[in-house]
Amino acid sequence: LPPAGAPERSAVVDLAAVRANVRRAREVAAPARLMAVVKADAYGHGAVPVARAALAAGADALGVAHVAEALQLRAAGVDAPLLAWLHTVGTDFRAGLAAGVELGVSGWELAPIAEAARALGTTARIHLKIDTGLGRNGATEAAWPGLVRAAAAAEAEGLVEVVGIFTHLAVADEPERPETAQQLARFRAAVDAARAAGLRPATRHAANSPGLFTARDQERPEDMLLDMVRVGVCLYGLSPFADRTPEELGLVPAMTLRTTVSAVKEVPAGQGVSYGLAHVTDRPTTLALVPLGYADGVPRAATGGPVRIQGRTCPVVGRVAMDQVVVDLGAPGLAAPEHGLLGAEAVLFGAGENPSATAWAEAAGTINYEIVTRVSPRVPRVHV
Ligand code: PLP
Repeated sequence: LPPAGAPERSAVVDLAAVRANVRRAREVAAPARLMAVVKADAYGHGAVPVARAALAAGADALGVAHVAEALQLRAAGVDAPLLAWLHTVGTDFRAGLAAGVELGVSGWELAPIAEAARALGTTARIHLKIDTGLGRNGATEAAWPGLVRAAAAAEAEGLVEVVGIFTHLAVADEPERPETAQQLARFRAAVDAARAAGLRPATRHAANSPGLFTARDQERPEDMLLDMVRVGVCLYGLSPFADRTPEELGLVPAMTLRTTVSAVKEVPAGQGVSYGLAHVTDRPTTLALVPLGYADGVPRAATGGPVRIQGRTCPVVGRVAMDQVVVDLGAPGLAAPEHGLLGAEAVLFGAGENPSATAWAEAAGTINYEIVTRVSPRVPRVHV
């Protein structure tokens, strides 16, 4: 049930579930420490309350993509170790350093960060990032020796301290693929090269959620877990694997996207439904209007997505519109007032018996990460 007084349309975020997921992830990671990834507004769950919950449950650090995201957390009084790793040439490194934010460095960022540290009279705490195979940010293996040398020189000047080295995995959610072990071997070599250049990074980190939950399947789990894991999606109670449920991983989905039925109507066979009349009823039935649409983050491609109403899970029929979807309740006659459908709770996804964000991802041809992250600001977050 939504909490009393919750808005009619809301994403209810169960912070007890977040705390339980953090404890579960820590237990799997131990003795490695845990960085809770709270970028993108904590994957849509609300960065500040989630960060506080994660820290209360024992997270050692927080991770975000952008310095601006880190500053939002600092502005809210979150003072835990905090890493931001994805920068643009306009990134305000001075503001980040002044707020005590640790910074990821893949290459070009080293010079402006050192400059900002010089201007502030401080030492920037940086994590060097190597691209061991994902092909996104991080220094290439060819560029790594040069980056390590430059970082060692800046460290000697007192402008930076290399407190960490990290990489990001490409296929950890497909444990049978060989590339993960190759990435971890390259990472080991990169750390060795950094140490040979005199760097002493205390925190090596590579594992994301799928890496964490498959570490024990690796020949050398310690190469995956390292000093710290850097996990996001599992903390929200979602499985990063196509073939493993949250329950199987010991996780509890934290977000419930819900509203109430805003209209109920009887229709005959042959009724076209929603734009394009792409769906036509093949029998008399009852349709429920559910006021969440693509402007709320329900993917327009998610026709067929499941909605739970009065204990029944029924599909969205026809196209998802900007503000609403139409759900086929599966039988005629349900619009009669005694069924109480007008105003009944309608859950798109949540924990327990409810449909999952993963089911919506399947309907839309995407991943559960995108489903929760794209729940739009128009949907109030209610933290319980
Ligand atoms: N590390 C980096 C660099 C990321 O970009 C992300 C998220 O995409 C994560 C860690 C967390 O990944 P996951 O949510 O799969 O745990």
